[in-house]
Amino acid sequence: MQFMLLKLTPVRTFFVKLFFGKPEQFATKTMNQTETKKLIKKLEDAYVCCKDCGFEWGVYSVGCSSTWIGICQVCVKEKPVTETRDYGYFMTGMRKLKLSLKKS
Ligand SMILES: [Zn+2]
Repeated sequence: MQFMLLKLTPVRTFFVKLFFGKPEQFATKTMNQTETKKLIKKLEDAYVCCKDCGFEWGVYSVGCSSTWIGICQVCVKEKPVTETRDYGYFMTGMRKLKLSLKKS
């Protein structure tokens, strides 16, 4: 029985990799330079964003902000949106993206 398990482990690992990819692919999105530059521009131009994009690219800096249903200028979905000002205008996200541009 133990022998069987040992034999099966590499196969299982293979399928796990096949279906889920490498773990680091979850943590960081793989973007090329052009995509990164486009995203920086998008974040710079965005005036309103949804909560998800706000938390992903910025830091929430106010206690409460007024939200309304609109189109998020980052993910382009109809969601409750708020001003990007409430997330520090995505300064932290843009800094990270610009750093990743320099590294590559
Ligand atoms: Zn969004």
